[in-house]
Amino acid sequence: MLIHTLTSNYYGSNCYIISEGDHAILIDPADAGLVRDFLSREDLTIDLGILTHEHCDHVYGCSAIREEYNCKMIASRICDINLRDNKKNYSRYYNSFIEIQTRLPVDTQSKMDPFTTYADEVFENEKTLEWCGHIIVLRETPGHSQGSICIVIDNSYLFSGDTLMKDDSTETHFIGGDKEQLAQITLPWFKTLPESIIVYAGHGESFRLGDKL
Ligand SMILES: [Zn+2]
Repeated sequence: MLIHTLTSNYYGSNCYIISEGDHAILIDPADAGLVRDFLSREDLTIDLGILTHEHCDHVYGCSAIREEYNCKMIASRICDINLRDNKKNYSRYYNSFIEIQTRLPVDTQSKMDPFTTYADEVFENEKTLEWCGHIIVLRETPGHSQGSICIVIDNSYLFSGDTLMKDDSTETHFIGGDKEQLAQITLPWFKTLPESIIVYAGHGESFRLGDKL
């Protein structure tokens, strides 16, 4: 199994393409152009897309990729509801948010139009999938947003979205963020996982779970 990282211009979010032979799973298609370029070089069939949460910097390319590669997108039920609202997915505010953060006008490559999208399949709490001989667990991990999930593959790799990052603490100030849910539901679950798990976060570099907790 190979893990490819595509880092977008949208606040530097990471899209991951996990491949096994000529099959692949896509996590967080933020920049459809980057995904398209990658897939034109590697001859892969996308079996499934997974969305870690509803924020626009992770899902801007969701609709384009679904149409072009005919792959269904899976997310938590709450994530799907929030994707359908350009305030809750933050795309309505994205350009001004970046201008406030950087104190510079947004460059054309990083500009975003307000949009809505959706998931084709939803789950609540936890869902287990089998894919090309791998076990994939999807788990709701509220805290950063209402619809946040984490993805664990073979109890060895954790795709954490914005729920766990190497250098930053988890941001809980956006709409739907909840410090208490993070502390009471999500952090205790992380502690049940092997410390040796490698975490692939929504932004920044990967790291060992035990080094963060
Ligand atoms: Zn986020």
